[in-house]
Amino acid sequence: MSGAGKVVEFDSLAGDIQELIKAGVDARTYSYSPYSKFKVGAALRCEDGTICKGCNVENTAYPVSICAERTAISKAVSDGKRKFVALAVIADLDDTFVSPCGECRQFIIEFGDIPIYLAKTSLGTVFETSAANMLPLAFAILNNSEK
Ligand SMILES: [Zn+2]
Repeated sequence: MSGAGKVVEFDSLAGDIQELIKAGVDARTYSYSPYSKFKVGAALRCEDGTICKGCNVENTAYPVSICAERTAISKAVSDGKRKFVALAVIADLDDTFVSPCGECRQFIIEFGDIPIYLAKTSLGTVFETSAANMLPLAFAILNNSEK
C-alpha cells in the first residue's frame, strides 16, 4: 500500500488519535464474524468529540453482513451526528494494513474527506490516509449545502 498515504509510528500520533485507534481495537473484540473469522473494528471521532465504535457483523446470508466502518457511521448518524473528524479501522493481517472495502469508501466519503487511520492491534505502526485518497472521483450528487 503506497501513494495514498504514509506509514507512521503509533507513538508519534496525537493523543486523541491514539485514543481513537484504541477505541477501534476495543470495538474489534465485539466483532461477530463466525464465517470469515476476520475481526474488524472501527472508531469514528465526531465533531463534538465523542467516539462512535463499530465492528463487522456477519450473517449466514453473506451479502447481508455489514462492515465495521458502516456500523460506526450508522450508529453516529442514528445519534444525530453528521460531522466527523477522523476514522480508525483496525484489523490484523501479518504483512499489510487492511483498508475499507469499496462500499465503505463510498459510505465514508458521503460525510466528507476525513482522515483515516489503518491500524493493527499491535499498535506499532499506522497507515495514515484520507477518504478522498482512498476514493478519488467519488460518486456524488448532493452539494455540501444539502447535507
Ligand atoms: Zn466495508
